[in-house]
Amino acid sequence: MPQSKPIEVPHTLLRTLHRIQEQRTDLNGAIGRVPRQIKAAEALVTTAKAAVDAAKEELKKARLNADEKQLQLQSREAHVEQLQAKLNTAGSNKEFNLLKDQIAADVQANSVQSDEILETLEQIDVLGGKLSAAEAELEQQEKQCSQRVAEIHEKQERLNENLAKVNEQLATAEAELPASVKSDYLRLTASRGDEALAPLATDSCGGCYQTLTTQTINRLQLSQLTHCPNCNAILYMPEDLRVR
Ligand SMILES: [Zn+2]
Repeated sequence: MPQSKPIEVPHTLLRTLHRIQEQRTDLNGAIGRVPRQIKAAEALVTTAKAAVDAAKEELKKARLNADEKQLQLQSREAHVEQLQAKLNTAGSNKEFNLLKDQIAADVQANSVQSDEILETLEQIDVLGGKLSAAEAELEQQEKQCSQRVAEIHEKQERLNENLAKVNEQLATAEAELPASVKSDYLRLTASRGDEALAPLATDSCGGCYQTLTTQTINRLQLSQLTHCPNCNAILYMPEDLRVR
């Protein structure tokens, strides 16, 4: 059976194509990471916002608690006044002593309550400071985030510009491929990107590290289009292994 005539492709062209394909993969990877980088920058703001909300909630609770205690105190003070008014009209010693005891108990309770209110007011001061600190942190994080996002967008623009350049270079290099190779090359690169090409690594495929036969290496050394029998990558000689 007659063998089809081997197709010759210069190693320099395959090297160039692989280099450009690798650049393209890197650029696409970097562009693909942009949304995640923006999310990461925004996450710090979200955390800072949650801290502000939590501090506000804590302060609100402490204020409600203080108000409630204040109302209880006022109502018990009013009660003490009522009991004191009753003292003057007490009908018996027993009733008088009973009222005295009640008044003493209420006054004692109010004293405890006043201390508690003072403590709560001190707590409100502390929580107010905590809220201010959380708000300052949020402001700082928002500022840093918008700077960071602007930087990421600038970088993204540069990456897109570079990708456009690399795509142009790729089209120029691909135009040099023999027509008989082109569809094979395009099909492989469309599905595998830069992994569609692999340099010879000593006596192995630089893509999958399968050891290659002498026959395969010989074909490769003759600049004949050679696929790795294992991963099907188009093989080429690297610059430092140049044979011819
Ligand atoms: Zn391989």
